[in-house]
Amino acid sequence: MNFRPTFSKEINYELNKCFRCSFCRSQCPIYQSKLNETWNARGRMLMVQLLRNGTITLDDNVLHRIYTCALCKSCEEICPGLVKVTDIIRETRRQLAEAKLGPLPEHMQMSENISKTGNVLSKQRPPELQEAIDNLPQRSHTIIFMGCVAQYVYPKQLITLFKIMREVGLEFTVLRDETCCGNFLNELGLREEFLKALAENAERLRRLRVEKIITLCPMCYNTFKHDLPELAPELKVAVQHSTQFLEEVLRNQILKPTRPLKMKLTYKDPCHLGRYAKIYDEPRNILELIGAETVEPERSREFSRCCGGTIRIPYSDLRNSLSNRFFEDVLKMKVDGVVTACPSCFHNLYSTAPYDIRGVFDIVEIVGYATGIIDRLEELTGLLE
Ligand code: SF4
Ligand code: SF4
Repeated sequence: MNFRPTFSKEINYELNKCFRCSFCRSQCPIYQSKLNETWNARGRMLMVQLLRNGTITLDDNVLHRIYTCALCKSCEEICPGLVKVTDIIRETRRQLAEAKLGPLPEHMQMSENISKTGNVLSKQRPPELQEAIDNLPQRSHTIIFMGCVAQYVYPKQLITLFKIMREVGLEFTVLRDETCCGNFLNELGLREEFLKALAENAERLRRLRVEKIITLCPMCYNTFKHDLPELAPELKVAVQHSTQFLEEVLRNQILKPTRPLKMKLTYKDPCHLGRYAKIYDEPRNILELIGAETVEPERSREFSRCCGGTIRIPYSDLRNSLSNRFFEDVLKMKVDGVVTACPSCFHNLYSTAPYDIRGVFDIVEIVGYATGIIDRLEELTGLLE
């Protein structure tokens, strides 16, 4: 296939900075599964250079190496050249999409779902969530941006957050006609589609005169925190991730734990909350404030493992091998469960957890349970007696 990307001065500068030291081998989760340099950040950088220079042509092998990058940023944490690997991959994907050579058919299906139904999963809102939404005011300066995965697959996470916000006396609503934030479209190189989705949500925020957004999903958080001000600088909207909000109300004792958590937990840093948004302390503080006993994984914070959630469609086998490696670490820690703060990581871990892992939990639900706001954690049967 004929594909020769041309890059801006900035991207060329980044690409040329890679001096092939291969330090990224110690971090790249895809390399660690495949054990072949072509799947490493270093191999990807070389392939993109060779495509740019016209030394190699695009084929399926190259294409898969470009789309299996989880954009986890793990390599960037160790890279001595500070190469912006994810910017290079994203820009290469953007040019592939422009040339109609990417993304993959499965990705296009997700994009079509958004254009047709407003959500990536093409699902209807569950009735229990719709009922909770119907009870919210029509307008408020604070909204919870619900996101696709929590809204259509794990509504209990949102309903619990609604209850917590009510408990602390915070008035809020949601965008009843919210559509996908579009972050993953951007990750796939579908830049125009991403900007369209963002512009639609910006218009809704403008209409409701929103001043503050709270998100459950770290991808939504990054979109509104970093991309919205570029697109609509006149909208002065404060953006908070739910862990920042929860830490604040627990630290200030507006919300207090009432129920002891009789279990040992470990916290999984989501890539988009940790490496992208640098929110590492708040989730840990929350667990401490509710009195949970925690064990820090050997690889945590900047060096935490990617669970592979971003590539599960269409690379589910590869995703499984990434999740399995994460759970191997967890099993060594002898904990009762894993807590995360991202509905996508939650879904990924929940659907791949081995039998020996007794629970995968969302941090909002853990807080809801510890503060007596919800009575039951489905996944915890037997652990709390
Ligand atoms: S660590 Fe950075 S400079 Fe070294 S090979 Fe990897 S991407 Fe290139
Ligand atoms: S962003 Fe993650 S998956 Fe992509 S090359 Fe870097 S470490 Fe590997």
